[in-house]
Amino acid sequence: MNTSTSSFRRVVIAGGGTAGWMMAALMSKLLGKQLDIKLIESEEIGTVGVGEATIPALTTFHELLGISEAEFMAATNATFKLGINFEGWKAIGENYFHSFGTTGTDHWSAGFQHFWLKGRAAGIAKEYAAYNPETVAAFANRFAHVPNHRLNYAYHLDAGRYAKYLRAMSERFGVQRIEGKIAAVLQDGPQGRDGDITALQMQDGSRIDGDLFIDCTGFRSLLLGETLGVGYEDWSYWLPCDRAVAVQTASVREAWPYTRAIAHPFGWQWRIPLQNRVGNGLVYSSKQLSDADAPEVLKRHVEGELLIQPRVLKFTPGQRAKVWERNCIAVGLASGFVEPLESTSIHLIQRAAIRLMQTFPAGGVQPADRDEFNQQSRRELEHIRDFIVLHYHVNERTDSDLWKHVREMDLPPTLRHRIELFRESGRVFRPSDELFAENSWIQVMMGQGVSPQRYHPVADLMGAPELKNFLGDIEVRVSRTVGGLPGHQAYVEQLCAPY
Ligand code: FAD
Repeated sequence: MNTSTSSFRRVVIAGGGTAGWMMAALMSKLLGKQLDIKLIESEEIGTVGVGEATIPALTTFHELLGISEAEFMAATNATFKLGINFEGWKAIGENYFHSFGTTGTDHWSAGFQHFWLKGRAAGIAKEYAAYNPETVAAFANRFAHVPNHRLNYAYHLDAGRYAKYLRAMSERFGVQRIEGKIAAVLQDGPQGRDGDITALQMQDGSRIDGDLFIDCTGFRSLLLGETLGVGYEDWSYWLPCDRAVAVQTASVREAWPYTRAIAHPFGWQWRIPLQNRVGNGLVYSSKQLSDADAPEVLKRHVEGELLIQPRVLKFTPGQRAKVWERNCIAVGLASGFVEPLESTSIHLIQRAAIRLMQTFPAGGVQPADRDEFNQQSRRELEHIRDFIVLHYHVNERTDSDLWKHVREMDLPPTLRHRIELFRESGRVFRPSDELFAENSWIQVMMGQGVSPQRYHPVADLMGAPELKNFLGDIEVRVSRTVGGLPGHQAYVEQLCAPY
């Protein structure tokens, strides 16, 4: 059995956006002594410059890297995020919150939603969100780390500063950064084509040799897509938005601990509050809004002074047919992209980094490792796609062809089944490898207006007075927890003050 890494130790990461530096950081922290890791990036080309809302799993990534939360937050102007407020998604004027936390208390045979559905039918339940501490804290603009009632949270962060922070860490762990443009990708097949990648030829004539190449070159996918010719599966039938325009504005109020996702006839808008500024953008369908008009429309929908000029980005939602081909693995935008409605792209980079550590091809690429990596990556993104499509599909908006199309379109069968099951019986089951848990699906399905016809009979074991006490106790617990929290902005400032 060969367990040595010596035969396959030169790793070249092409690209230094969030994907490149997250890969570099984890790989160098874990295997830095065994590997020779180089990262190439071009200041002239730059990065996509967006990607500022995250999900709670990022805290695990930071634990693996040994990152101090306060230091990281100070370095990236980060704030806490307790969930996303979806405004106007079901219908104009109707909002709901997708929080990261748990709602109420489950019974082993049936989730809390069944008890709540019974309580609502009996007229004794408040709105579903009243039983979720994260939602109540978000709207009260409060946050703290509470030992007994830990709020489940993620961060809003400055993407550019985050890449710099991870870069400094990776360089400490031995990663060598190379500045410059990749001019050609060299292969070992006949006439230098159709084989494994052997080296990247830089514009200045130098050559970077490697055994394993990580393609983090963004939407262009220079290695996996352009060079190895791995195709792209287009999901724009289900996700018709194909453009984004982004801009940063100065803060005009305290940073609230949640992302806003505001629906519009042409798509939707994000607002992400950092300590010092707000990240804003529109995600839109080019059939509904022109690239020429989009920046002006965005400017009309932001508050505060513009800190940069709006920038339009084009994308095709979907994924590469394989993310690992030969000795090249694509990570980040190079591997595929589903619009940032649930802030999942940075998480997918984290998952790819961890997966590569679990399947690292120490003795050379093994087809079984590669196939496993590809299958896991595919399933992961398809689950996320279904969840995002859910937000669009179940809507009552009548103000554009976009909303009509997504309401009437054929669904992926996996998603159709999920919705039918919930509508009939209030049940949700989570495949073991799926990112979004039951409570996420329930909040979004009910928020979008999928109303279960029945609840689980176990809820009938409680009579009305008992159910009233049960719901009342949860509500009191939630308001006590939130009532004891400080204001979010004040808490962040105090946490970051030593840095
Ligand atoms: P990029 O940032 O594009 O980096 C590419 C790198 O490759 C750069 O360093 C570039 O210089 C280098 N490069 C390219 N070609 C060459 C070459 N020839 N030679 C040398 N270097 C080269 N994700 C979230 O998790 N949350 C969000 O809220 C979120 N919002 C988003 C909003 C929008 C509109 C978009 C488009 C994406 C969003 N994402 C979000 C996704 C997130 O931005 C990306 O997943 C993340 O930034 C990673 O990007 P990347 O590193 O793959 O690519």
